[in-house]
Amino acid sequence: MSRKGRRMIFKTAEEIELIRENCLLVCKTLAYVGSMLKPGLTGEEIDTKAEEFIRDHGAIPGFKGLYGCPSTLLVSRNEAVVHGLPSKEQVFEDGDILSIDCGTYMNEFYGDAAYTFCVGEVKEETLQLCRVTNESLYLGIEQAVVGNRVGDVSFAIQNYTERVHKYSVVRELVGHGLGKSMHEAPDVPNYGRRGQGPVLKEGLVIAIEPMVNMGRKEVRTLRDDWTIVTKDKKPAAHYEHTIAVTKDGPDILSNHELIIEEIRKNPNVIPIVREQAVS
Ligand code: MG
Ligand code: MG
Repeated sequence: MSRKGRRMIFKTAEEIELIRENCLLVCKTLAYVGSMLKPGLTGEEIDTKAEEFIRDHGAIPGFKGLYGCPSTLLVSRNEAVVHGLPSKEQVFEDGDILSIDCGTYMNEFYGDAAYTFCVGEVKEETLQLCRVTNESLYLGIEQAVVGNRVGDVSFAIQNYTERVHKYSVVRELVGHGLGKSMHEAPDVPNYGRRGQGPVLKEGLVIAIEPMVNMGRKEVRTLRDDWTIVTKDKKPAAHYEHTIAVTKDGPDILSNHELIIEEIRKNPNVIPIVREQAVS
């Protein structure tokens, strides 16, 4: 969908807190899902649990029904980059990496976050892809300060993943503004040039979400019309935070620590954490 020409909507401190509540519920949902992940489980099973969890907490799934999305979670395995549809046939296997993306809606605002879970014996080169993608998310967030431009965020992600680590960022899908709509202006690409694009101002809320391919950047859409996969079938990773631009710097409204805490207790999942050496 094209969001070009749409105006950015700046949020009050109160509105940012409502978005934070959603983002924290998204991360609690991802933590809950992460606590149960294991080989043999299906996408359908975790999707059902996630929807129940969100509704039990007084919210509704943010993706379900949006643009015709049939599910609460988007579960993208291995060569799937994003927008994978959870199903009965999607059976998790030892060595899988699963990007699980989730949104919620309550109190008239959305929340959005994603994390790539490494299930069982994941290859070291794939773990490294995940670490680098996760690290690039934080390098992007560091640039989300008042007076910088979207291109500063984009450049930081692209520079680290492509120039330093020789991976490829996906061009067709981007991060986005978020608020009373799941997708608002501005687009936040994971590639770009420093000093270009819209100026970041206080009250802007954006989802920053690097999608990084181990091999080439080209992707295609599967026949389900949803799942985006790498053309070369090599794995892709995806991590996402929603952040607010404030006068005190970027305020990360989602919280991956909630997820990491739960998966540390799950012997089937290898946590990807920020402190790991990635140089
Ligand atoms: Mg998302
Ligand atoms: Mg998003």
